[in-house]
Amino acid sequence: MDDSLVAAVSEAAPFPILVAPDPALRRKANPVGPADQATVRAAIPRLFAAMYAAPGIGLAAPQVGLSLRLFIIDLQTDGVRDPMVVINPEILYRSAEVETREEGCLSFPGQYADVTRPRAIRARWLDETGARHERALEGLLARCFQHEADHLEGILFVDHISALKRNMILRRLAKRQREKDARRA
Ligand SMILES: [Zn+2]
Repeated sequence: MDDSLVAAVSEAAPFPILVAPDPALRRKANPVGPADQATVRAAIPRLFAAMYAAPGIGLAAPQVGLSLRLFIIDLQTDGVRDPMVVINPEILYRSAEVETREEGCLSFPGQYADVTRPRAIRARWLDETGARHERALEGLLARCFQHEADHLEGILFVDHISALKRNMILRRLAKRQREKDARRA
């Protein structure tokens, strides 16, 4: 991350993150075009500020109510920041080999489930400078990339688990929300 982005993140107002079942999480996001440049430039520091505050390792624009094909990732391996901005991604290849790992989502606070996904992918995207990237990704980065790319389609991690587990998670979230509302009242 260049110094100007580090400074922008530290000064940015974190976006509030939408919690399921907010209908905005189910909308397919629009491609980022030339007309969106100012919006994207302003949103990136606020997305990082929200993700680091949560804390989390990925956040997609639809999770803050922005219908744009944009997400950020920072795995923060060993506590070291390594931010990645992904715009208009395409997944070109998914490995037949799958892997099951526990996943969470900032739009499902406190909820986790085992999700099976392809272990490796090949993807293409643009970064915040407009530079084009094409890379093979695997492990946690491939998992996170797929999770965030799903958000751009209105697909959530609970769509990859059984209806029984999904309903349990949604009920727990609703209960949590009622408790929060009660404390506020
Ligand atoms: Zn998520």
